[in-house]
Formats: sequence, C-alpha cells, structure tokens
Amino acid sequence: MTPPLLHRCWPELTGTLPYLRLGDAPTPVRPLAGLGCRSAVWLKDESGYGRGGWGGNKVRKLEWLLPEARRRGARTVLTVGGLGTNWGLAAALYGRELGLDVALGLIDHPVDDHVRAQLRRLRASGARLHFLHTRTRLVLAAPWLFVRHAHGLTPPYFLPAGGSSPLGALGYVECALELAGQVADGLLPEPGWIVTAVGSGGTAAGLALGLRLAGLRTRVLGVVVNDTLRLDGPTLTALARKSLALLRARGARLPGAEPGPADVVTDYGWLGAGYAHPTAPGAAALDRAASGAGLELEQTYTAKALAALLELDAAGRFGGEPVVFLNTFGPR
Ligand SMILES: *Cc1c(COP(=O)(O)O)cnc(C)c1O
Repeated sequence: MTPPLLHRCWPELTGTLPYLRLGDAPTPVRPLAGLGCRSAVWLKDESGYGRGGWGGNKVRKLEWLLPEARRRGARTVLTVGGLGTNWGLAAALYGRELGLDVALGLIDHPVDDHVRAQLRRLRASGARLHFLHTRTRLVLAAPWLFVRHAHGLTPPYFLPAGGSSPLGALGYVECALELAGQVADGLLPEPGWIVTAVGSGGTAAGLALGLRLAGLRTRVLGVVVNDTLRLDGPTLTALARKSLALLRARGARLPGAEPGPADVVTDYGWLGAGYAHPTAPGAAALDRAASGAGLELEQTYTAKALAALLELDAAGRFGGEPVVFLNTFGPR
C-alpha cells in the first residue's frame, strides 16, 4: 500500500495514526474549459476516488476513520445523515470491507429520484437503518442507539454527520497535500481559490489546513449547502485547528502555522430553501457543466458550489487568479 502523504511528510505519524488506502491517488486535475469563465478554472476530480470507481469525497475521510474504529476495538460504526446520505452509504460499503457493521440514524429532507435511488442502495448495503425523521428525535434516540449497537461493553464508534470529525477531515488535508504536489509538478498553476460545497465542513476545513501545511497561498471558498448544522467560517477554522491539534497529539512535529479566518471563508448565498432543496442557479450550473464541460453534477452539493463559482467569476471576485473547482460527487 502506498503510504499517505501525511505519513511520508511526517513519518512520526506512521505508527500512531492508522490509515487504510481506499482509492488511487493522486486524483486527476485538468482545465475546466467550456464554462465561459473569466478566470482560469481547474478541476480537481474526486469523483473516481474509491474502490471500483465508487467515489466522491466521503472515501478519503473513511481512510482515517475506519482504521481508528478498529483500533478502538469497535465492531459497529454509528453515524447519522439525511435520507439520501452519501456519507452513510460510503460508511456502510467500506465499513463492511473491514468487518465493521454500520448503523445509521436518518432524518427527513425533500425526496427526489436521486434520494429514492440512494435509499434503495442504503437498504441493500446491509446497514442498520433507524428512521428518526427529525433532529430532535435523533438526539433523543442517541442513548438508545448507543446501547442497541454496543458489542458487549464496547460502544459503537460514533462518527458525526458527513464524517467531519477532526480525524475525518484529515482526508482533505491529504487531498490538499496532493494538490500542492501537482502544483509543484507543474500540472496546474498555484490557485488563488479552491471552491467546494460545504455539507458538514470536513472537506473545506481539511483543505484549509492542508494548504496551510503545504505552504500554498490558496484559500478555500466553502459554498454552504446545509442549513441544519453550523458551518460558518469560524466554525470551519476551529475544525481545521482541531485537526492540527490531533496531528500534534499523535506526535507530528508541525510548523507553527495555525489556520486563520482568511484561510477558509463560507458563502450562504447559494443554499436556497435549505439542504437538498434544488435552486434555479444550481440547475443552470448543472446544465452548463454537462453541456459545456461534460461534467456530471448533482443538485444538493456540487451544482450549488459551481453556481457560486460561476457567479463570483462573472463578478470578477477571483481577481484574475486561477480557481480550482473540487468535484466531490462520485458516480455510484
Ligand atoms: C458530503 C458531500 C459534500 C460535502 O462535504 P463535507 O465534507 O460534508 O462538507 C460535497 N459534495 C458531495 C457530493 C457530498 O456527498
């Protein structure tokens, strides 16, 4: 197994921070032409990261989270999400490879064909599904879920929504180190910005920390698509700092670079009526990506993120600097 860049850069982490590779790195970068942008736009394509092309941005988080669950002796991973949760499905499919059961607490949100198909996959995945409908009921049911899924005296390993714990966010620290390598290799210019959807924050926070550790001046623009969690800039900066503290606690000798408020900013202008509610700018961006750039997106995350990129670009907000769009959507 090729070691992760985090182990190669800080060998002292090798024995303290277990890792399981689940995809082929580096993921490709290419110019994203055909969108009619003023800025030079590049794609960092996470869609194929995973086993058998089952990809998207949740897989890199699991590379750190699943081995940690096993290290703790857990037999079951307990996590939460919406009805169409990409996260829960990824956890179920990859957890099984490690012999871990996955239990999911699910809450309601608008259902479309994509969500219905996703629910079918969730049922087929073997995950134990608990339909709790609302956040309040999920919180009230939590103690029961812990007892229900304990194995003897060992509780299930709990993962927050989207896998965005300080440990899960390391997946996108790794991705940022990879991007820095691609910049160093001359595959793309050093970007001014990287634009990504923010659903639970681990992707944006991890990128911000990784870019900082790699010494790039690239900032993260997080397009918030979820109104059920707190995901403002200070919250994501705090998560990035917790990931840094975790690396230090596991023995990494890291430079004094704390991620600051300028490293990750969030924009709520593209959320529309809320999580998983389609928007007109999102639908237009989805069409433009498909017809102009041959890029397949979905409505909940990536279409809204690209809509933001297109409009900010048209308004000259990237100041002529190259921009990277992170495609977090994986064909399933
Ligand atoms: C989960 C998800 C995101 C958001 O990533 P977070 O780390 O949860 O913020 C973006 N795009 C897609 C397709 C996702 O499934």
